Amino acid sequence: MAITQPLQLLAPLSGVLLPLEQVPDPVFSSRVIGDGLCIDPTSQTLCAPLSGVVSNLQRSGHALSITGEQGQQVLMHIGLDTVNLAGKGFTCLIEEGQQVTAGQPLIEFDADYLALHARSLLTLMLVVSGEAVTGLVSDRLLVVTGQPVLRLDPAAAAAQTSEAAGQALFSQPLILGNPQGLHARPAALLAQAAKCFAANICLHRREDSANAKSLVSIMALQTVQGDALQVSAVGADAEQAIQALVELLASGCGEKISAAASPEPRVAMEEPLDPLWRGVCASPGSAFGQVLQVAEQRLQIREAATSPQQERESLQQALGQAREALQLLRDSASGDAQQEIFRAHQELLDDPSLLEQAHALIATGKSAAFAWNSAIEVTAELFKGLGSSLLAERAVDLADVGQRVLKLLLGVQEQALNLPDQAILIAEQLTPSQTASLDTAKVLGFVTVGGGATSHVAILARALGLPAICGLSPRVLSLANGTRVLLDADRGELHTDPDPQRVQQLQALRQQQRQRQQQDLAQAAHPAVTRDGHHLEVTANIASLAEAEQAMSLGGEGVGLLRSEFLYQDRSQAPSPEEQAATYRAIAQALGPTRNLVVRTLDVGGDKPLAYVPMDREANPFLGLRGIRLCLARPELLREQFRAMLACAGQTRLHIMLPMVSQLAELRQARQLLDDEVQALGLAERPKLGIMIEVPSAALMADRFAQEVDFFSIGTNDLTQYTLAMDRDHPRLAGQADSFHPAVLRLIARTVQAAHAHGKWVGVCGALASEPLAVPLLLGLGVDELSVSVPLIPAIKARVRELDLNQCQALAARIIDLEDAAQVRECLQRQPIAADSLVLEN
Ligand code: PEP
Ligand code: MG
Repeated sequence: MAITQPLQLLAPLSGVLLPLEQVPDPVFSSRVIGDGLCIDPTSQTLCAPLSGVVSNLQRSGHALSITGEQGQQVLMHIGLDTVNLAGKGFTCLIEEGQQVTAGQPLIEFDADYLALHARSLLTLMLVVSGEAVTGLVSDRLLVVTGQPVLRLDPAAAAAQTSEAAGQALFSQPLILGNPQGLHARPAALLAQAAKCFAANICLHRREDSANAKSLVSIMALQTVQGDALQVSAVGADAEQAIQALVELLASGCGEKISAAASPEPRVAMEEPLDPLWRGVCASPGSAFGQVLQVAEQRLQIREAATSPQQERESLQQALGQAREALQLLRDSASGDAQQEIFRAHQELLDDPSLLEQAHALIATGKSAAFAWNSAIEVTAELFKGLGSSLLAERAVDLADVGQRVLKLLLGVQEQALNLPDQAILIAEQLTPSQTASLDTAKVLGFVTVGGGATSHVAILARALGLPAICGLSPRVLSLANGTRVLLDADRGELHTDPDPQRVQQLQALRQQQRQRQQQDLAQAAHPAVTRDGHHLEVTANIASLAEAEQAMSLGGEGVGLLRSEFLYQDRSQAPSPEEQAATYRAIAQALGPTRNLVVRTLDVGGDKPLAYVPMDREANPFLGLRGIRLCLARPELLREQFRAMLACAGQTRLHIMLPMVSQLAELRQARQLLDDEVQALGLAERPKLGIMIEVPSAALMADRFAQEVDFFSIGTNDLTQYTLAMDRDHPRLAGQADSFHPAVLRLIARTVQAAHAHGKWVGVCGALASEPLAVPLLLGLGVDELSVSVPLIPAIKARVRELDLNQCQALAARIIDLEDAAQVRECLQRQPIAADSLVLEN
């Protein structure tokens, strides 16, 4: 909509002006919603910046938009993450649809309440109808309500349009090299570069085209690596614009790209393909079968709509249908893991921030499908860009939910896969929904380019018993359907020309493993005592009540790690103290009075965010405000958690454990807070208090810590990451970030010695404890408890029963002197299974 009259927008509040770039929320600072300004308010009544109609008023009263007389739409958003306040602290003085005049009071808010309960008071005023904001009216930093602050300059817009007249020029086709296509970041760079030219510029992919100056429009093209793109431009500087944008696209728009980007069409199909592909094991096992490529369904999305009300209703209806479909999946799920994943997907459908973004776009005249898709894509991109592999994996869930709703909005039916027998699926990425609905009678395993070992897709694959690997080169997508392949997920390998002998060997091995699993399960209730009479406690790593119950039924001797941060991970609001206490009580009851329950305090931080514990963005989240550091920075959170845990102190042998401790002061500070709560509740004594050993400084200072704790539990996942300086979830480093590295083993040995010297016990709760190969080693190093992943309890107990402590000690003493993880693994693999034949090499 063009502006025909000059228009000044008035300051909706008094306060300090801030440029959008400085807003600590990329949804706003990226200008994806619109251009405008931000005010750090000193007043508490939001007033209309222009005359018009209130075209949208958020139910929670924290945001609204006004459509001016000439069609301009201005969105105002009070505070950051204020949608979570569910209306508390806001008083609306107007209604949706009401005519308002410039300067009229719209919403009153309680700044003190917001300051305490929301992330920030920063208030946004954004022009969302697409017109350029050509300048600040004033260069003063302080503004007063009603003072003109922004100018929408119709002359500049008209000049641009007239300059743009003329013949359209087109570039040569260019092959897109960006591995994820033009997602938010490269698209933002491209749009920014395009805005430097007066010409009207379009980006074309086949019959679709996008306004190259609009981030949302570029993202809506849904480009993928290998797409042939063209740039066209109309206007005086069209030639320069095309040249600059083609160069930018060919260079990857700020991203590293593969050789696929070139002005010539791709020739990759003619290159010979490797017979061996390497990735990361997402689900163990092996399978021999034939390739079936699974391509993503491309959806056509209309951008504009005529009736926002109708679009709102369509979105509402599609969300309802998606909720029902997910409920059906939950009801038919065979295990807790699947049920939990689809419950989390249902929660995403109610996510206030997603809905807010979608409704804001609908209010500007976009279709429900376009608005919903943009909200999903922008949020998924944010997740991916936050430097956390966990969040990046959650972006897959978001995309999955997004597609589900989108297909309902567009009336698109799911395309059923035409599966051959013994299919090995290859895909850029499988969604959790696709994975859960795989026909395991026909599908033997799968391979993906994206994804990670801790993704929901990997969890589902393990639950279905399907071998899977992820993180393969995108060239694997060129393998022809029907190619015979051997998937050796244990080694993270896919062979396209497998040795028939190897295929036979693996099939025989699988058969043996299945038999062994059945035997271990039958003996799960027997204690884990070595042949020479040493008892090693085998407990469970859990994240829910359901897992606690399952662990007990599989022979778990207690819980060695309750990851409390996962109890409420998919919630946007904090659980009440009563709810927390009820959860701990229920878990304690499942264990009974004689078993240990080790509850770890919240291990939240960069890689494991909790929606209701807002955190600043960090450049290195793994090295930032994680675990105990975050809890000590928010002592009320920790106190509340201590109180909830203490509620179950009489029901079980409660142990409290602090994560990510790196300094004695942290232990002492947390202990003081715990003591205060113990005293306030009038309890006779403090429960056992221990720390995770997962930072090298804690392992090196274990002798000092041992004097002040009741126990240690070694987190080998983080200990490996911090000792080897390798991101624990990095797909390329997965082969090297190996907990069998002698450096990690030496830290374990040192921790055990220090603990035992002070009469304290040591457990291992990192993933190393769940590896049958590591059992003789950890036993030999003197570890007292192994806390393992629930399904592996029977196998680990069975492994202990085969061993002899003396021989394991000699083995460990020898292994600790080896040079690298490969030597350690090799040495352990050479040990025969039965204890009486456990031979040490010289
Ligand atoms: C570990 O780091 O080994 C551990 C058990 O903690 P988490 O995996 O939860 O970080
Ligand atoms: Mg850890």
